Amino acid sequence: MNEIPFPAGPEREIRCFSCGAQSGARLLEKIPYREIWALLRDEWGAAFSEDVIRRHTPCGETALLECPRCGVHFFDPPVPGDADFYRELGESPRYYSRGKWEFDWAKARIARGAMVLDVGCGDGDFLVGIAPSAGRAVGVEWSPFAVGRARALGLDVREGDLAMHAAEFDGGFDAVCAFHVLEHLPDPAGFIGSLRRCLRPGGSLYLAVPNRIRSGRAPVEPLDCPPHHLTRWSPEALADIVRRTGLVPVEIATEPVDISIPRDRLRERIRSVTERIPIVGGTLGIWLPRVTWRVVLCTPALLLYRRYGVLERAGYYGLSVAVRCTEAGS
Ligand SMILES: [Zn+2]
Repeated sequence: MNEIPFPAGPEREIRCFSCGAQSGARLLEKIPYREIWALLRDEWGAAFSEDVIRRHTPCGETALLECPRCGVHFFDPPVPGDADFYRELGESPRYYSRGKWEFDWAKARIARGAMVLDVGCGDGDFLVGIAPSAGRAVGVEWSPFAVGRARALGLDVREGDLAMHAAEFDGGFDAVCAFHVLEHLPDPAGFIGSLRRCLRPGGSLYLAVPNRIRSGRAPVEPLDCPPHHLTRWSPEALADIVRRTGLVPVEIATEPVDISIPRDRLRERIRSVTERIPIVGGTLGIWLPRVTWRVVLCTPALLLYRRYGVLERAGYYGLSVAVRCTEAGS
């Protein structure tokens, strides 16, 4: 990470997508587009056509910048994936298999009988879980393939974007959800404004995004780069955009870390010490980690860590951050 001021010249204006700040963005990193496309192919099995690659490669490298005002990290130039990009990516069988922590987190907070809207509902994984206890459960999804799969489950899912259904949905829902949508969009604040208009008085908006301070992330994760993601969020930056759109973040939570990450770090640390011990160091390096995590990472200890946020305080975070927000005064 370096401290080069960005942009270097006055010829192009760079504006933060989240808060609109026009100056002072700090360059964090540059990532070659050819590396992103190669990783999408090798890690995700995504076979993109030359035409899609050409349309989504505006230059040699994408720049990751940090906004000095709101703290969001955003990519420049802002070239989001279009329908063809998502169609070709969606054909990869691995694309829609992702964690469900935020689904359970939101479901635990939505009352029985509530009217629920899920925007960007994908295959309907969240709606399937909430529909039996909801008064009404409706999804909106851009990908016609995902809409087909969701409807096959008997779900009420509308194709297109939220603006196409705004009149019907206006003020109609107790709970409006958008899980892992914000980071794909060039105007996240405008999108939150559209979600807000779907809320009934007293309703709650649930948002989840990837947590950029998650543990165990790879140096370059191709799905966390353009054209798939245009922004990266911390809990603070997420709370900030919610406030700027006139909502109150009443509850914010991060997904617990996958326990294999601190366990592997613990093993590496113990081995780095034991390998310096002559004769018995090799044997100790195998057995000492096993004994240690039986004690330190046993089930009762993990429950205590979860309850008191011990692993988070030690710098271990899971994949997602979620926020529940309401209108001021509700
Ligand atoms: Zn900003």
